[in-house]
Amino acid sequence: MISVLINIAKFEYDIHSLVKAFFPKEDVKVVTEDSVPSCEEGTVYRVHYEATEFSFYEGDTLLGTEPVKPDADRIDEKNAVKRLVYKALSARTGKTLVWGDLTGIRPTKIPRKMLDEGKSDAEILSYMKDTYLVGDEKSALALDIAKCEREILKPLRDKGYSIYIGIPFCPTTCLYCSFTSNPIAMWRDRVSEYLNALKKEIDFTAHARAGQIIDTVYIGGGTPTTLSAEKLDELLSYMEERLDLRNLLEFTVEAGRADSITVDKLAVLHRHHVTRISVNPQTMNQKTLDLIGRRHTVEDVVRAFNDARTVGFDNINMDIILGLPGEDTAEVTHTIDEIVKLRPDSLTVHSLAIKRGSRLYEWILNQGYATMVNTDATMAIAAEGAERLDMKPYYLYRQKNMAGNFENTGYAREGAYGIYNILIMEELEPIVAMGPGSVSKVITREGRLVRSDNVKDVAEYIARIDEMLDRKKELFSLE
Ligand code: SF4
Repeated sequence: MISVLINIAKFEYDIHSLVKAFFPKEDVKVVTEDSVPSCEEGTVYRVHYEATEFSFYEGDTLLGTEPVKPDADRIDEKNAVKRLVYKALSARTGKTLVWGDLTGIRPTKIPRKMLDEGKSDAEILSYMKDTYLVGDEKSALALDIAKCEREILKPLRDKGYSIYIGIPFCPTTCLYCSFTSNPIAMWRDRVSEYLNALKKEIDFTAHARAGQIIDTVYIGGGTPTTLSAEKLDELLSYMEERLDLRNLLEFTVEAGRADSITVDKLAVLHRHHVTRISVNPQTMNQKTLDLIGRRHTVEDVVRAFNDARTVGFDNINMDIILGLPGEDTAEVTHTIDEIVKLRPDSLTVHSLAIKRGSRLYEWILNQGYATMVNTDATMAIAAEGAERLDMKPYYLYRQKNMAGNFENTGYAREGAYGIYNILIMEELEPIVAMGPGSVSKVITREGRLVRSDNVKDVAEYIARIDEMLDRKKELFSLE
């Protein structure tokens, strides 16, 4: 247990994320000094703020200070305290973090904004290093990706928006899952009710945003292909009737798990002009697939991928996860070699994130952290595989509690980029999200990004669909 006591009720979240990045296996608590005196167990650090500086202590020993400029705003203060905590813990533990003290999930936003302001590469790289202590390699990666994103997003239309639709059902629940996922077997009888609720959201959006251009559509989940071919056809036909999908830049359906993909379903997607799908193995090692509860074989993945090609898909993504239990360089090398043989058009490499509430979290408590490895070496194997596939990195995001404190990176060959993937990270245009647990985001007249969440539970979502529409109405009124 690590406790961090602070004397101002600010930046708890940022300090927590950073301390946790240094001590991923420990429980970390960040509390104000006067609120919970009983938390002083295990290692106790203290962050003390006075008008001109932050100080950081372990017990009563001062580990460092960081000055705060007299005219500092909240961001300057936050950057100062994070730099202090990072430098002190780095000196104390001998560890460096490749992303420095950056704990946010969108590190490429920083270089992209600076590029928009006309800053040079050198200015951006030194800012990343001096302000956030990011290593040279990751600074260069973030800058490269920011440049790539700007090119990919050029075709976006003025006042365009994107649509997300969630299908919250899966064949079974994966060990590491933290998404909105429900076993389809338990919900099969209520799928029509669910689609009816979705249709209400589609109608509302079509009406409220009539005349606006839709840039991209993304159907994710869950696993959209848990719907039968008939139900997929019903949903996609309804979307075509109500929404103007003729000028889409991209239409993605995350087919996802091989145990849900059939030729019939692929044919329905293709007939409805879906341009990009995902067939996600996560690993090509059967032992791991069994362990993480995917309930399909490696051969199923190969079959689903080849079927998708035969049906006519020329833009297929594959997702893999590094840091899965029991996997090290040999297993990752095998996965990458098998994927290279299939030649997908894009490859998304996730670093396993350990979320409280996932079965994985419980599993780790029993089995121990040592079973999970994600290192520079496994990241390099994946990057080198992407290179063999003539792909380059085009989007990147981070999550809390990731194995190895790395990042998720999307690689794609030229022209096969996932535009929606960038939009969801860079938050440059409205995203209207439908389905339980989905989050809509718009940009207000004052230029602020605001969001509205749908309830997570499927039954609640169906029962309270009119309330979800009211939330959207309120959100759209801010634009
Ligand atoms: S396929 Fe995805 S959404 Fe479904 S259970 Fe597995 S991780 Fe969760």
